[in-house]
Amino acid sequence: MIQVTKVKNRKRNNKVILTDEILDSKNLNAEEKKFFKRKFKTNKVQFLKTTKGITFVVNTKKEPSDNIRTAGFKVHQELKNIKNCTIICKNATNMLLFLEGFILSNYQFLKYFGDAKEKVNKINSLHVITNASDKEITAQLNLLKSVYWAKDMVNEPVSYLNAIRIAEEFETKGMEANFNVDIFEQTKIESLKMGGLLAVNQGSETPATFTIMEYKPKNAVNKKPYVLVGKGVVYDTGGLSLKPTPNSMDFMKTDMGGAACVSGTIYALALNKIPVHVIALVPATDNRPGKNAYAPGDVVTMFDGTTVEVLNTDAEGRMVLADAIAYANKYKPELIIDAATLTGASVRAVGVKTAVFMGNAKEKYMKLLEKTGQETHDRVVRFPFWDEWKEEMKSDIADLKNLGGPYAGMITAGKFLEHFAEFPYIHIDLSNAYLHSANNYNGKGATGAGVRLLYNFFKELSN
Ligand SMILES: [Zn+2]
Repeated sequence: MIQVTKVKNRKRNNKVILTDEILDSKNLNAEEKKFFKRKFKTNKVQFLKTTKGITFVVNTKKEPSDNIRTAGFKVHQELKNIKNCTIICKNATNMLLFLEGFILSNYQFLKYFGDAKEKVNKINSLHVITNASDKEITAQLNLLKSVYWAKDMVNEPVSYLNAIRIAEEFETKGMEANFNVDIFEQTKIESLKMGGLLAVNQGSETPATFTIMEYKPKNAVNKKPYVLVGKGVVYDTGGLSLKPTPNSMDFMKTDMGGAACVSGTIYALALNKIPVHVIALVPATDNRPGKNAYAPGDVVTMFDGTTVEVLNTDAEGRMVLADAIAYANKYKPELIIDAATLTGASVRAVGVKTAVFMGNAKEKYMKLLEKTGQETHDRVVRFPFWDEWKEEMKSDIADLKNLGGPYAGMITAGKFLEHFAEFPYIHIDLSNAYLHSANNYNGKGATGAGVRLLYNFFKELSN
């Protein structure tokens, strides 16, 4: 992470000025003023390179919040290989937005490169002159650190991040940020009869894990906890219903994007001591066509006793999530939210620029989630959740089947999961967890989707 230090006066030559009015700036000399003034109104981000250094001016007048993040990205493109610079922005909100765009743009996943040292961006220190408080800046950096962690996990291949390692990751972060982490291993999962998770794990050489993360500060504003559930399929071959490789199985290391999202969220909440009681559950396994792999036609008895006819072993996410959602009921939660890279249908419907969500929770939660998505630009678009779709999940020989009809696959998957939730429920299908081409400050590869969304959702609820 880039180091950010609040200072009173500028000492460095490289500078970025975010301002509504060019003539106001005491940090520009006469020549610079003349240069920037000409294009100030039409060009929102512009820069001037001289022998002394580089100067950026960002026009913040009446800009929507995401344009300030995007300005952070644009400035970063030019500055990433300059060691340091000063950012001058009195307005606290704009400063925090700019830092968000800039620092997210600086994320790199270089672990597996031999020449990582040459590839790493040179920028490593920012001085900031701003009305934003130290506390606000630290909170923002903690949130971005959590997004970085979520991105790292999604970018890691299963050759490193298997079901055991992901649980260890959670444990390490729990110790650092002071939230409780309890890991159930295979024998415990067997004794609990988590049939869905065990069925998916049958074809794997690596045992499944089930992790409970709990952040319960003494000053929590909610009496009943919010429970998050994240899909932790650390690799998805499709199982016996094997996926093709190109543009499919080759990216299935990302199928634990939901787990990264919920753990990243709880990590950020704990680091920033947000007064809200949140629990995150992650069922983790890979899905492989190994020796005793579960098979299409199998009937599985789930953790809550529901029987499920398996018609496609590639619809494994709902099998592991269903057990975790049923487990969430025991906390008598205010709300259950799951996040999962669940269906291709959601990607076909909306592409990768947003996630989709649906649910039966109170309108105030549904609206707040959508609004938070707009504000953070970590967006969610709402889909209907009518009971007609439930019909498609009825089986001829069991209580449910794990496959719906050819249409609205993201909704039938949600209706399947809703069956297991005895409390108000929201389902998030993370179609935007991974990008095959770079997009703005989200970069290429893992996006950390949902972390900024859910963190700010709970922060708002804690007020
Ligand atoms: Zn699958």
